[in-house]
Amino acid sequence: MKEITINTKKRIEMLDITPDIQKAVNESGVSDGVCHVFVPHTTAGVTINENADPDVTADIQQHMTKLVPRESDFKHGEGNSDGHIKSSLFGPSQVVFIESGRLVLGIWQAVYFCECDGPRTRKALVKIMQG
Ligand code: ZN
Repeated sequence: MKEITINTKKRIEMLDITPDIQKAVNESGVSDGVCHVFVPHTTAGVTINENADPDVTADIQQHMTKLVPRESDFKHGEGNSDGHIKSSLFGPSQVVFIESGRLVLGIWQAVYFCECDGPRTRKALVKIMQG
């Protein structure tokens, strides 16, 4: 298992971690298999979406904030209930196939680490399996 360290800068942020994951694939030496990405946090997640037009991730973040406002009648006392909800909407993991040593992603796709209660030092865990 490989660990990727991510330093987020904003409260809500989507960071393209595809190069870090591809690097982990390269280091593993696996040419054909499966790559699991897991985020071990309760206020961050991981998703796959467009990396060609930065307006797409801007829209996702803006509308995620509209869907789950920071202030509401939450019971959780840490003040980050919106982050817990947003992270569950993104989800904690993704699976990407590996072929010929490359992540199999659509031409416009990238893997995004989704910060929902930053800034913080975070990690993503990558498990690469041959097969
Ligand atoms: Zn909390």
